[in-house]
Amino acid sequence: MTGRGQNAHMERKTPANACCRCGATAYRPVITRDATGAMKASHVYRCVGCKLEFTDIDTWRGTPSAAPPQRVFEPSQGTEA
Ligand SMILES: [Zn+2]
Repeated sequence: MTGRGQNAHMERKTPANACCRCGATAYRPVITRDATGAMKASHVYRCVGCKLEFTDIDTWRGTPSAAPPQRVFEPSQGTEA
């Protein structure tokens, strides 16, 4: 059967806020209990889908936050004194 190609289906954009692994759109802060038994929110978050733990939202989204910025060398010309 020749139908319409559904290639466009594969090219769906990922939402800005979604797990880069499982596509879940939510995560929860990981609550830890310290020595005194107090519940404390750590700086760790966990994906609700794949349980990926991360401290940086960019890690979860798969955004290369460590990408070096464009090399823009501003020659310090002009003497501001
Ligand atoms: Zn996930």
